[in-house]
Amino acid sequence: MTNGRRRVGILSFQGDFAAHARALRRAGAEPSFVRRIDDLAHLDGLILPGGESTTMLRFLQAEPWFDALREFAASERPLFGTCAGAILLAQSVIHPAQTSLGLLDMTIRRNGYGRQLDSFTDTACITALGEAPLELVFIRAPIIESVGTEVEVLAECGGYPVWVRQGRVFAATFHPEMTDDARVHQFVFGSGFGRDVNRSA
Ligand code: GLN
Repeated sequence: MTNGRRRVGILSFQGDFAAHARALRRAGAEPSFVRRIDDLAHLDGLILPGGESTTMLRFLQAEPWFDALREFAASERPLFGTCAGAILLAQSVIHPAQTSLGLLDMTIRRNGYGRQLDSFTDTACITALGEAPLELVFIRAPIIESVGTEVEVLAECGGYPVWVRQGRVFAATFHPEMTDDARVHQFVFGSGFGRDVNRSA
């Protein structure tokens, strides 16, 4: 913690890590750019941002990042993957198949909306976030095709889950860092600190 504010890392090899830093500040957390495994120490949470999952994988496979990220998740600190980051967290990736961390029990289809709906916005009412609808920004987004029994669906759009959690591992196929609405980051890293009300803290 920094001055009582939670320090949240953002994996910063590639992608929209700067936008996540702004979103974390809006949510009252202290962002920290993560480029080396040692940077994971002293963090209260971590974001795997959107971008290009194949490019990120190249960085992650060059050093023992898979072990380090699995240890991070096991330490019960919130881990949040958005878009490409969600792909990295999944148990299974299709279209095409790709290596992943297997930290969230879901099957995810890369570029699931195809060329016609390459990028779009929508709104959804999300019980966990209160009454005001949330704007959802999708950019070459994946589709969560199925989730395991341990996975809670926090938001759906067009009949598919778009925000899910398994314990303190969270994934969104949209980009919550692209709007001024800080509620998603607050929910994951804020006062609730990713706690599941049904579990003991
Ligand atoms: N299409 C990208 C991928 O497959 C994800 C897009 C994004 O993160 N905005 O990795």
